[in-house]
Amino acid sequence: MKRKGDTSNAIQHANFSIRPTSVSVAWGSVDCTAIKSRAVAEPAIIEMGRTKAFAPTQIVPPPSQPASSNFPSTRAREASLYKFFAPGGVLSKAHPAYEFRRGQLQMAQAVEEALEQKRHLIVEAGTGTGKTLAYLVPVIRSGKRVVISTGTKNLQEQLFYKDIPFLEQTLYPNGEGMLNVCYMKGRNNYLCKKKLYDLTDQPVLSGLEEIEHYRAIAAWERTTHTGDRAELATLPEASALWHKLDARSETCLGQKCSAFETCFITEMHRRAQESDIIIVNHHLFFADLAIKQASEYAPDAGILPEVGAVIFDEAHELEDVAGSYFGVSVSNSRLEELARDVEASLTRNHMLSASVVGALRSLRERSQLFFSVLPSGEGRFAFENRREFMEENGYEFIALQQSLQRLGSELQNLPSKSEEVFTFCRRAQELQVQLGFLMESEDHNTVFWIERRGRGLSPRRHRETESTQDPRSGMGGRQSVYLQATPIDVAPILQRTLFEPLETAVLTSATLAVGGGFEYIRRRLGLEHVREVVLPSHFDYQKQALFYVPPDLPDPRTPQFAAKAADRIRRILEITRGRAFVLFTSYAQMNEIYHRLLGELEFPMLLQGDAPKSALLEEFRLTPHAVLFATSSFWQGVDVQGQQLSCVIIDRLPFAVPSDPVVAARVKSIDAEGGNAFFQYQVPAAVITLKQGFGRLIRSLHDRGLLTLLDNRILKKAYGRTFVESLPAYRRTIDIREVENFFGSQSG
Ligand code: SF4
Repeated sequence: MKRKGDTSNAIQHANFSIRPTSVSVAWGSVDCTAIKSRAVAEPAIIEMGRTKAFAPTQIVPPPSQPASSNFPSTRAREASLYKFFAPGGVLSKAHPAYEFRRGQLQMAQAVEEALEQKRHLIVEAGTGTGKTLAYLVPVIRSGKRVVISTGTKNLQEQLFYKDIPFLEQTLYPNGEGMLNVCYMKGRNNYLCKKKLYDLTDQPVLSGLEEIEHYRAIAAWERTTHTGDRAELATLPEASALWHKLDARSETCLGQKCSAFETCFITEMHRRAQESDIIIVNHHLFFADLAIKQASEYAPDAGILPEVGAVIFDEAHELEDVAGSYFGVSVSNSRLEELARDVEASLTRNHMLSASVVGALRSLRERSQLFFSVLPSGEGRFAFENRREFMEENGYEFIALQQSLQRLGSELQNLPSKSEEVFTFCRRAQELQVQLGFLMESEDHNTVFWIERRGRGLSPRRHRETESTQDPRSGMGGRQSVYLQATPIDVAPILQRTLFEPLETAVLTSATLAVGGGFEYIRRRLGLEHVREVVLPSHFDYQKQALFYVPPDLPDPRTPQFAAKAADRIRRILEITRGRAFVLFTSYAQMNEIYHRLLGELEFPMLLQGDAPKSALLEEFRLTPHAVLFATSSFWQGVDVQGQQLSCVIIDRLPFAVPSDPVVAARVKSIDAEGGNAFFQYQVPAAVITLKQGFGRLIRSLHDRGLLTLLDNRILKKAYGRTFVESLPAYRRTIDIREVENFFGSQSG
């Protein structure tokens, strides 16, 4: 992004190079798919701090200038916003189903003003506003290079495959040009040619399955133009071979790679530099920002080009994602991966000396010892007594540090070194630096914690309310132990690295306001001097949704709750004839209530964890009267329109679990500063989560249904009012007979 007052120009960007440093400064882990090749793939979560740089070969236009000469089109510039969105206007002529929505026009006007006046903007725009067109049209009219960052893959795909092509056809009706747009994904979606060629020279494959996958990948590599694994439909999601062949940054040789010029990543990067609109997800965006910040905005840092504005859609997720990328994470798996990569590379190149073998053995032994003496505990927990731990176990820590140093020295001493060897040295050094920070830093704005998980699973995000980790996951296989450091308050970091340097940030979501205002989100993100807009809903919630809270159920924290809640759920489902999501704040509660109702309901019951999320959703859509029991991963980003989803039941107010180390540190910090963490942090965060959960029900003007909250603290506690006032204007009731009437009066 362009920093205010920044005089850097295009030439500086064209000339950047790799800088040696003890921490990662590279642009690293993100790539893009150009509009000409619209392949679909899972945007991957990127790890920070283990990256290597490429130099782009294109001169980058400054953010005030478009990458393409026909951007924006004459048509986009000449029509007023009203003419675009109005009844009978440009958009309605282009699409027969287009309908005028006042909120959409208001949002477009607010975004256009923000872009023109170089101001920040927060917009809450409920489902049905049509917010993607409301920001895309002003973005295109501005002629600025813009990044659009989303929370979900679904929204990325909607923008890239649906909304932008629609606007292209509208704005360039004679086919005189196209927008330059790219859709960026994590590097591990792409094939590393070098790794494939190395494997071809010296195949080390384990098992028939890997051999089969290798053949498929090798044949595909000869024909693919993108290297995007999404094209390889037959490759299983969890392919172990792909993990060995992907283009993730930590193993990349950058410009020194023999395959650099034809590398899929290099090509993707070139296309990103030529794009007017760059679609990323929040993980890519903050990984890039964190890398730039770590390198103090060195010109060779980061992958995203400078832009005139960033649009954050699904912006309610920003704090969590930003926190994870401005932190540090070291795991026993990461150390083992380094040892394994060194071993494989040196073996392949006939360079594996006895001294390196000794260093690798030492690293493995000491890593195992160090991680075994860490405090015991499952899941996520605070690492509070690091000083005492170091007094008792300082030897194990120093021994591990020394083994990393020894490995680096042995690699340096090799008589002839391949380029890969230098990346191994860098990785060993980074691990040393990061381990040192994790064990010795006294930074007051950082919480240090540990997470134990099953093999191959990434650390879980803390916002998943209470115990939503599936106890069935992570069992079996070797356990990974993550040492983590997370900023307690990301606001000052984002203020300094994002909002102050950036000309325009637009934050939008259906769930940003609490009690009608944005104080919570502004405070959590450090966003000052911002225009705020809450748009009226396009839906008639009074008519479309009934919100029922049973006043007679026990407190959900009591042991009697589950039995009573199961009875009430059964009653409600009989009224709604199934067709429901029953959403829980914990796996334990979900499983208990599911098993209480198993065999009791006449409707097909689906349970989260029995199949992948997408398969469960598909089954739900296709199975008449189905009932899905699920936890937090179904609270957002799930869209089931029509009568098939006529009821959403939520078990309790979704407060984040207070013992979670990151949540606990934030609560403590707010209270210590004289604030009231419950009202300033815990309640607003739960309000936004509840709005997300209930938001699953009404997805179109024709949807109609029941929302039930089984937690009547919303009626009885003072804070309940904040929840009620923050929810859309649903019709409300505490009387089950009104629920019966609602469905009795429902046609069909
Ligand atoms: S530059 Fe070489 S090592 Fe890096 S991703 Fe491309 S092919 Fe792989």
